Amino acid sequence: MMHDTLSAPLAGWVIALADVPDPVFAQGMMGSGIAIDPVGDTLHAPCDGIVTSIHAAGHAVALTTGEGAELLMHIGIDSVAMAGAGFERLVADGTRVLRGDALVRFDLDLLVQRARSAVTPVLLVGDGFALTPLATDRLVTVGDPLLRLTRTTALADPTAMDVGPDVRLTLTVALPHGIHARPAARIAAAARGRDAKVTLVCGAARASALSMTGLLGLGAGFGASVSIEARGCDAEAVVDAIAAILLATVEEGAPPPPVPRSVANRIDPRAMPGVGAVPGLAIGIARWLRPQPIMAPSGSGDRDTERVALATGLVRLRSALAGSNGVLAAHRALLDDPDLLHAIEGEIATGSAAVAAALTVTAAQAETLARNPDPRIAERGDDLRDIGQRLAHAILGTEPEAIRIDPGTVLLADDLLPSQLAGLHGTAPGAIAVARGGPTSHVAIMAAAQGIPMVVALGTGLGEIADGVCVIVDGDGGTVRADPDDAALAAAEARVARLRAAEARARLDNDGSPAATSDGHAIGVQVNLGSATDATAAVADGAEGCGLLRTELLFLDRTTPPGRDEQTATYRAIAGALAGRPLTIRLLDVGGDKPAPYLAIPAEENPALGLRGVRVLLAQSELLETQLAAILDATDTGPCRIMVPMVASLAELDAVRVVLDRLRGDRQVALGAMIETPAAAIGADLIAARADFLSIGSNDLTQYVLAMDRGNASVAGGIDGLHPAVLRLIAATCDGAAQHNVPVGVCGGLAADPLAVPILIGLGVRSLSVPPVRIAATRALVAGISYATAVAHARAALAAESAAAVRALARALAEEDHA
Ligand code: PEP
Ligand code: MG
Repeated sequence: MMHDTLSAPLAGWVIALADVPDPVFAQGMMGSGIAIDPVGDTLHAPCDGIVTSIHAAGHAVALTTGEGAELLMHIGIDSVAMAGAGFERLVADGTRVLRGDALVRFDLDLLVQRARSAVTPVLLVGDGFALTPLATDRLVTVGDPLLRLTRTTALADPTAMDVGPDVRLTLTVALPHGIHARPAARIAAAARGRDAKVTLVCGAARASALSMTGLLGLGAGFGASVSIEARGCDAEAVVDAIAAILLATVEEGAPPPPVPRSVANRIDPRAMPGVGAVPGLAIGIARWLRPQPIMAPSGSGDRDTERVALATGLVRLRSALAGSNGVLAAHRALLDDPDLLHAIEGEIATGSAAVAAALTVTAAQAETLARNPDPRIAERGDDLRDIGQRLAHAILGTEPEAIRIDPGTVLLADDLLPSQLAGLHGTAPGAIAVARGGPTSHVAIMAAAQGIPMVVALGTGLGEIADGVCVIVDGDGGTVRADPDDAALAAAEARVARLRAAEARARLDNDGSPAATSDGHAIGVQVNLGSATDATAAVADGAEGCGLLRTELLFLDRTTPPGRDEQTATYRAIAGALAGRPLTIRLLDVGGDKPAPYLAIPAEENPALGLRGVRVLLAQSELLETQLAAILDATDTGPCRIMVPMVASLAELDAVRVVLDRLRGDRQVALGAMIETPAAAIGADLIAARADFLSIGSNDLTQYVLAMDRGNASVAGGIDGLHPAVLRLIAATCDGAAQHNVPVGVCGGLAADPLAVPILIGLGVRSLSVPPVRIAATRALVAGISYATAVAHARAALAAESAAAVRALARALAEEDHA
């Protein structure tokens, strides 16, 4: 019996064929063999032979050995869809090659990012031979012994079927990628074991339906004319079966079309899917946060002593939280909630110790909140549990365990409380991955403020990641990949390095001049603010002003609305920090998911469609008048612009303008409308006729266009601002505004999405307002693209069929730019 050794054609990790993430390969339908997860970028000949066919896209090579064995090497899974991008063919059909000769060079980064998998099967596809693996589950370099090739009893060529009808059918191939490896395997399977001799003819090339390499060698792409010739008793049935394969417009066995937000999965099928809460990419070492439960002592048994202990704890905690901002300030307000305190005292009255009472009552109330169908309310349960634990520590006079974070740590947690993030020592974590949690939780807001990429709702699977394992957290795609292979790691490192370099360059290049595309088209980059805190740093990073001041943050978590003077002081402080740059003040946007109890908005069955934004202001005109007056007062410190939220009709903008004109005197202030409802987007030409500027609130626009609640975790995977329907409305807004030469900006989350920026620019958006940590990155993105490219790219995005398809296009453009 003759033996030959096939050497490794590629450096990488050898895996069994059964582990290839494609059933057509894994189940041996293509042939027997082995697969390599590559770390190298060149495919070599595993033995001497002749290149029987090399696919026009370069991803598949068929080789016939001197003994006549037919081999197929297929670089990556579903790599045919890359249409040759990143592949360089080094040989041609018919080239005689020696063991070790280079056959194809490929861009491994691109393969990892664009193909379903980079895994490369090495297969025996003809009859008459058998393969025995010489290496599995280990790293090989090119030339290492990989497989033993043995001639078995030569199987007779399929017998010519001389009886039965002659059948010939000519058709046009409808398969999107023509006859590549997967359809060739299906054709061979349809012909195998049947009483028919079948040949496929394409131009001058002919191939037996049983020969995988012959079929690949036909070079029959989409639209090619192919004849199927058959003879034998089963001829008609086999021709019909093959015709059905070739005429299918969707390839059977191909992976299902991606669902929204599965783009990252498609790029990296081994990544664990969750929901992206804070954008960005980070690589680091996993470190679990497993807080020790607080041991509640049995207490004194004396109710008065426990009441005093509670009072002491409250004093300590209030003073610890005094002067804090944002989330911690909201916690301080919770401590003043009379119902909560009353419930804790009631628990003490039943004989509980103060610590136990604080923990029990807050846990029970958190549980009730967590069951609320509105996830924004449910997520506030975390805040209550958090305040309970803080209070328990304060009563005991202890501190929570100090957790030190080393640089590059990826923090993993079943759930993460705001105080736990705030209480970390050392450096901030490089990224955060949480099994539960929601994208709008307070802890996510804190992470966003610090620019820490975060993925939430990863489920129990996260528990399988052990401390010390290397992890890639992709906050853009909403995935976590544990223990990545060398190729995935290298690709992620390259992406992180690119992003960092671009941001650093943008900071260096920031000489105060406005941002512009590489061909000089000005795109304003502004900052979204909630207070004066981040304004100075944002200006240093290159913010050209504030494109959205969310004034509701001034109005929430308190018992009465802020008066004119308090508001003016805040607006002046921010205008001062912006030092002459424009400050866009959005009028109070409460209602819906932003409650303000003192405003007496009646309970609504469907708050997102009820009294929200400008509707509240027009219903409670004293609020509108006070706020407009306060803004007008602040114009003495810097240029202010007024922005009206949740506009659905021109009449609402007109009504605000009437009040403004009555109050303004000779003070100059621009008045613009937010485009957050489909009605405003479609009617943008009407609104622009009487607005000084338009600003797209993509968060709300997306929820209203897709009819998906922006705070509902069950639809979080589908709510994507890159949905073509949302993009078409953005295009309609820009077109409508252009009729009146009114500028359009975007201040919703889409402006901060790196994949969206080129599309928005191409659609005609003139400014992007983003969170403070995204200023430098956004300036870098703007500078890195030409306006002409952005326009063509946006046109393609508008024609795409799904959000996933738009993201795939955008990712391809981002990669091209860095190729
Ligand atoms: C938006 O809807 O995109 C927006 C900027 O407003 P907010 O997120 O505050 O509702
Ligand atoms: Mg909004």
